[in-house]
Amino acid sequence: MSKLDVLVVGAGPTGMTAAIELARRNVSVRIVERRTTPSTSSKALVMHARTLELMDILGVADEMVHRGYTSPGIEFSANLEKPLRANAHKLDTQFSYILILPQAETEEILERYLNKLGIKIERGCTLTGFSETENAVRCTIERAEGGTFEINASYIVGADGVHSMVRKTLDLPFEGYRYGWTAFLGDVRLHGHHAEGGTEQHFSNRGLGFIVPFKDGSHRIVTIDHDYQGDLETRELKLEELQNSISSILEKPVELTDPKWLTRWGSSLRIVPQYRVGRAFIGGDAAHTHSPAGGQGMNTGIQDAFNLGWKLAFVIKGEAPEALLNTYNSERYPLGKRALRVSNLLIRSLRLRQNLLRKLRQALLSIVIPLPPVQRKITITLSGLGVRYKTGDGKLAGVRMPDMELMNAEHEKVRLYKLLSFPGYTLLLFIGPDQAQSAREQIEQILCNADDMLKSHVILNSGLPKLHNFKASTLVDYRGDFENKIGSKTGRIILVRPDAYVAFDLAALDPDAFKKQLRKWKTERSIPPETPILQEMPLQGSRSLTCS
Ligand SMILES: Cc1cc2nc3c(=O)[nH]c(=O)nc-3n(C[C@H](O)[C@H](O)[C@H](O)COP(=O)(O)OP(=O)(O)OC[C@H]3O[C@@H](n4cnc5c(N)ncnc54)[C@H](O)[C@@H]3O)c2cc1C
Repeated sequence: MSKLDVLVVGAGPTGMTAAIELARRNVSVRIVERRTTPSTSSKALVMHARTLELMDILGVADEMVHRGYTSPGIEFSANLEKPLRANAHKLDTQFSYILILPQAETEEILERYLNKLGIKIERGCTLTGFSETENAVRCTIERAEGGTFEINASYIVGADGVHSMVRKTLDLPFEGYRYGWTAFLGDVRLHGHHAEGGTEQHFSNRGLGFIVPFKDGSHRIVTIDHDYQGDLETRELKLEELQNSISSILEKPVELTDPKWLTRWGSSLRIVPQYRVGRAFIGGDAAHTHSPAGGQGMNTGIQDAFNLGWKLAFVIKGEAPEALLNTYNSERYPLGKRALRVSNLLIRSLRLRQNLLRKLRQALLSIVIPLPPVQRKITITLSGLGVRYKTGDGKLAGVRMPDMELMNAEHEKVRLYKLLSFPGYTLLLFIGPDQAQSAREQIEQILCNADDMLKSHVILNSGLPKLHNFKASTLVDYRGDFENKIGSKTGRIILVRPDAYVAFDLAALDPDAFKKQLRKWKTERSIPPETPILQEMPLQGSRSLTCS
């Protein structure tokens, strides 16, 4: 029986991201998947900005964007003549839009990355149960062709979807309820309605309809139609039924042809009370499930996996205290609950049945959606960019580092997120050219802390990087992004976690204080019952955080 560091169960987006995050830090990992072939049905279509930023760190965002379709925002069209759109283009990110990319393609890209790291998905392998010993988990796997085998691992990650065996084995309750409605879904050609610009939501007396355009000109159509409720969920969906349903909701006849996928499905609103039990972790749909409204499910799952992967790798390699693993639950559980709240609010408000309430909602939406603060609130919340964790000391601690454009000594433009692809911590010393001279000794002492797990960069607020001969790459913040985007003054030390959130920061170039903070972070991390703060991130070119 082989012993490995981590067994990941389930090769959906959550499991593959977790396996990638472990494997790229040279942690031994296996990933088992019940299905014998990759999935071809694309449940999730929407990828939000924060997920794309994480994909950028992995170096696969460009391919995703290239293969997908960028939608400027979410349209609350409500069959109105003038579309009401929550625009994403003012978000301070490299990805200020919603990416429409079928989940099967996202999975294909992630699997290729995993293969490049030397990990093959073990398909046709179903986890049937596991037990925990003092320092391992013993897992039983059933082969599709018959027979079982065992895997002994230090940790198990349950990314095995809504019917998770890992969750059931842990005896964790999946608290919540099942929605009373059934939805229709079809990937089809749509004639008689033009929906090119965004992800449209329509409602009428008949119910609710979503229309999402694909790059090839076809559309995903989803309806929750009052006239078709009470049908057996298992009954096959006919193209004419979907056509009738969407025509009624749009209040005009449209024609549907060339169905690629037709299904009906129901949804639940559920979450587990904790994401960690001993050596077992769960994430993605195994931990939380809700309606697809707002496109939060896959995005939340990928972000769970990204949060867990580096922490687990660091602990396995002895680079972080075991207690760091508890922050997976304290950081991600509240966000799982929030995803449930957001999608529930959206689906309930969109599904209002009474005529008067619907008219009121329509009138209200026409007034509030165009308001800039409302636009910002909707897009910040759905994009995932507004999350701030409680991580450590400093005014920037827990803030998501926005991307910035810097310039290196060779006058080449370098994006901060390219630097953040380093799998350890990234240390940013933000200084002025005068400090490069006057505080050289302190700076060199701080830079001495660099090792395999910590990479340093000196960032000048102006001047020429090549004039300073530091033992670290030196770049210039030629656009003033540190000041404009995070309100940072020079003379600041910022330690960034591998998931691009600030671990801690210091407002002085003090080598002793830095060493103390670093030691605290790496060895003594205490685990307060942290809750993420939803933070209003600045819009392009504006400033909302100030540090003295
Ligand atoms: C119609 C629809 C539209 C959606 N649209 C969006 C959207 O636009 N944006 C968004 O973010 N989300 C969306 N979602 C939700 C999204 O599809 C899920 O949240 C996402 O697939 C979750 O990924 P996961 O990896 O956690 O789980 P899954 O994708 O379910 O993957 C779990 C994997 O585990 C495997 N498995 C299960 N049990 C075992 C076992 N015992 N042993 C081994 N393997 C096992 C399964 O075969 C599966 O491959 C949508 C969902 C639906 C139904």
